[in-house]
Amino acid sequence: MTGVGGRIDEVRAQIAAVCADEGRDPGGVRLLAVTKTRPAQTVREAYATGCRWFGENRLQELRDKAAELSDLSDLSWSVIGHVQRNKAGTVVDLASELQSLDSLDLAADLDRRLEVADRTLDVLVQVNTSGETTKSGLAPDGVEAFTLGLRHHSRLVPKGLMTIALPSADDREVAACFDELVAVRDRLRDRDGSGWDDLSMGMSGDFRLAIAHGSTCVRIGSALFGPRD
Ligand SMILES: *Cc1c(COP(=O)(O)O)cnc(C)c1O
Repeated sequence: MTGVGGRIDEVRAQIAAVCADEGRDPGGVRLLAVTKTRPAQTVREAYATGCRWFGENRLQELRDKAAELSDLSDLSWSVIGHVQRNKAGTVVDLASELQSLDSLDLAADLDRRLEVADRTLDVLVQVNTSGETTKSGLAPDGVEAFTLGLRHHSRLVPKGLMTIALPSADDREVAACFDELVAVRDRLRDRDGSGWDDLSMGMSGDFRLAIAHGSTCVRIGSALFGPRD
């Protein structure tokens, strides 16, 4: 198979191979197909191969694409980019999950709208493990306090943590970011007893390393759909 279908099969095979090496169940690693900048037709092609989770980082683009794809009822959208407070309504209308939560003001807005819509939203807290000032996300040592603040917002269901690793050719530097996320998760588990299971880490260039370090969700765009413009 060529095109999108062939690349998806290839990435799935790579995920399975790393899991086999690590003694992990491949069912424990979710493939989130990142379709930002791609047309709705690309989502359809990925859907046809069995993909059900799609990641978008712009809310207007998500709204347009979701409207074009409203016939695909069992597809789930995950928001992976920064959300401005005035776009909270789009998240509540369309998303199954928000992976980039890093603001309690946004959390409060979402919670209020979710209450009105009578639904819940799965959330992952974004952590800045690379130390790059251009990256969103909370500093690792701020996550514990932040998650206490989330307890006031019962419509937000805490699922885990998300990070973007340092873009580095040195695997040790990249792995240090993944290990940092695991360490934050372990501290939350020690405090709360359970939960915080999801670790969304790994993109096209580093997903194998991320799985070896415990990722439960890889967010993959260009390896599936080719380079973005
Ligand atoms: C764009 C994006 C990805 C996918 O990046 P690729 O390198 O194309 O796989 C993953 N995560 C986030 C948060 C993104 O914005």
